[in-house]
Amino acid sequence: MFRKLLTFDEAKALIQQTLQPKPLGTQEIPLLDAYNRVLSQDAISNLDIPPFNRSTVDGYAVKAEDTFGADENNPVKLKVCGFVAIGELPKITIQEGKAAEIVTGAPIPQGANAVVMVEDTNREGATLTIYSSATPNENVQKKGSDIKNGETILKAGRALGSREIGVLAAFGKAKVTVFLVPTAAVVSTGGEIIEPGKKLLPGKIYDINAYSLCTAVRECGGKPIYAGVVPDEKKQLRKELDKALASADILLTSGGVSVGPKDLIPQTVDSLGKPGVFISGIAVKPGKPATVALIGKKPVFSFPGHPTSALMIFHLLARPVIQVMAGKPAKDMPSVKAYAAGRMFSAKGRRTFVTVTLSMNEKSKHLVAEAVETGASGAITTLAKADGFLEIPENEQFVDAGEEVTVWLLKESL
Ligand code: AMP
Ligand code: MG
Repeated sequence: MFRKLLTFDEAKALIQQTLQPKPLGTQEIPLLDAYNRVLSQDAISNLDIPPFNRSTVDGYAVKAEDTFGADENNPVKLKVCGFVAIGELPKITIQEGKAAEIVTGAPIPQGANAVVMVEDTNREGATLTIYSSATPNENVQKKGSDIKNGETILKAGRALGSREIGVLAAFGKAKVTVFLVPTAAVVSTGGEIIEPGKKLLPGKIYDINAYSLCTAVRECGGKPIYAGVVPDEKKQLRKELDKALASADILLTSGGVSVGPKDLIPQTVDSLGKPGVFISGIAVKPGKPATVALIGKKPVFSFPGHPTSALMIFHLLARPVIQVMAGKPAKDMPSVKAYAAGRMFSAKGRRTFVTVTLSMNEKSKHLVAEAVETGASGAITTLAKADGFLEIPENEQFVDAGEEVTVWLLKESL
């Protein structure tokens, strides 16, 4: 194990190179259970959709040519020869001068090439008067016009929501093959941390990180395993981290990575197996002591205890790894352009991330990014208020008021 501050870019590259994240495998599951799962192969249609030419209106199936020239003053008269029911192929064929009553979604009968809307007709017995001319294919949805047989409908890597699951159902899939969901065990460390739901004893604080990190894992396609709170005690830490790592594909810890006497995480993680810790400190602010390890084939990310730092470093470093393990493309966090509300300073020589709130300047119609006060006392308000964070490069001292900045969003959209 070594303790050398890498630059942020070096750390990102080293994480890719060392962890080489990839999906863990695939499984076939019922389509109805596939919400939020990730498609592992392109979905290719084996059907034309719709599978037959069908009417898009209630009306009469006709030969368009029979209606040419029809208008209010010169209506055309046709003979009604039958009714086309929905859900079966019509047995009738439309001859010249004939029409068949048809409902929305029913197949167009042989011989017909258009449908006249019922609103443009008047019927008396078998005599149909048409007041409007139809063009060929009018009110007809052609076979395969929505999806063609052999067409790629959804790409591998697509997360399945209501729209995607509806599309898969359209071509008769009751099952779908998806990537396995990577599991991430989440451990909070520190003698002062108490699990929510328990009594808050004097000198203690409730665990924020396990809850925010578990949810962030879900957001990027993983399944969190809440592994509780462990005090800063060497033996117990080692035992609990070992157990948590065995229970999941990834281990996330928070707290105990600084240089204090109780900061035992880097050495404990390193003792769990080979190759061990490969990042121990990054030239960033906040989150400088962040630690990353590979134990066997499993990534371990150890974040600092401060809740905003933990969540920010998760997004910057762990999120892309979990996304790829979940089968998704490693997407940057969503970002928006904004203008800095005031001057914001960087930490010398470190890539600095400043949590900001965003608001719209009604006059200029520009988004304005204003720094949220951080610091030990601001943990909760920072999490609650921050819309995102902006980045100040290592070689710049500050972002000036009015300067255009990129704000990475801590939520999917504003
Ligand atoms: P540490 O990184 O362990 O030095 O912790 C830094 C700060 O974050 C301390 O004030 C801790 O009490 C606080 N902290 C650590 N872990 C958590 C947690 N799980 N939830 C809320 N605050 C935490
Ligand atoms: Mg601690």
